[in-house]
Amino acid sequence: MAESDVARETVGRSKDIKSGRGGSAGPACPTIAGDTRAGHGGAGEGSAMIASDLETGISRLREMIEAAEAVVPFTGAGISTECGIPDFRSPGGIWTKMRPIEFGDFLASQEARDESWRRRFAMEDQFGGAKPGRGHRALASLYKAGKVPGIITQNIDNLHQVSGFSAIDVVELHGNTTYATCLDCAKRYELAWVRERFTASGRSPDCPQCSGYIKTATVSFGQSMPEDAMRRAQELAESSDLFLAIGSSLVVWPAAGFPLAAKRAGARLAIINRDATDFDDVADLVVHDDIGAVLSPFIAH
Ligand SMILES: [Zn+2]
Repeated sequence: MAESDVARETVGRSKDIKSGRGGSAGPACPTIAGDTRAGHGGAGEGSAMIASDLETGISRLREMIEAAEAVVPFTGAGISTECGIPDFRSPGGIWTKMRPIEFGDFLASQEARDESWRRRFAMEDQFGGAKPGRGHRALASLYKAGKVPGIITQNIDNLHQVSGFSAIDVVELHGNTTYATCLDCAKRYELAWVRERFTASGRSPDCPQCSGYIKTATVSFGQSMPEDAMRRAQELAESSDLFLAIGSSLVVWPAAGFPLAAKRAGARLAIINRDATDFDDVADLVVHDDIGAVLSPFIAH
């Protein structure tokens, strides 16, 4: 949904992170693959356990969730594809067809701001009615059961909140596209409000309060990562005893650093993703299957 201006903060590939060349946050962790921590026990500890089939994956995941006290999910685009929201970064995705509008251009030009909003409204017409999928509902069930203290997401579609998470417990690394804010005074504006004015004048409106520019509450290419969200994500990852990486290829840094931060702090790591990730070899469980199929048994009825 309207990733028309979402950041792809690629600083280093995850392979670089694992070898300690990937970035500046936290100590390098060159030996994570051999980092078998005592005290967790159980099959697959310290080495990847790639589920041979869906049933095995679900049953192992159930054991891990039952044994855990603080499950922290980390979600990427893969959890929302069954909701009809495409993964814009995938091959053939929108970024291979349309150049994203960078933050500097948005600031510099009324035309860029108009184009940014034009794209956003087009997205709204296509994906605005998206509803939470099975993965969202399963995680919301675990949250309501008290298993999940908070969730970290790369998605901007607001579907975790719609599925039942309190907004305060959703850490959005790339912001949220379902509302807008003034870049100067931070006042919140709803999309309908912006659209009404855009339709009337053909131009993106400025903040009536301070004349600042109004932009979707997303993190654009060229815009710095939100410090508060980064800090909260780090804290959540380190406080978890089970970290679930779901629907993310885990190649985008710094977001991809969180599974390793959790692992370093002693958590187990489960990866649920249709395709292999660079972190599969350090995970305690890997399930390569449809996310909705893997998580639907965890929906509370
Ligand atoms: Zn303002």
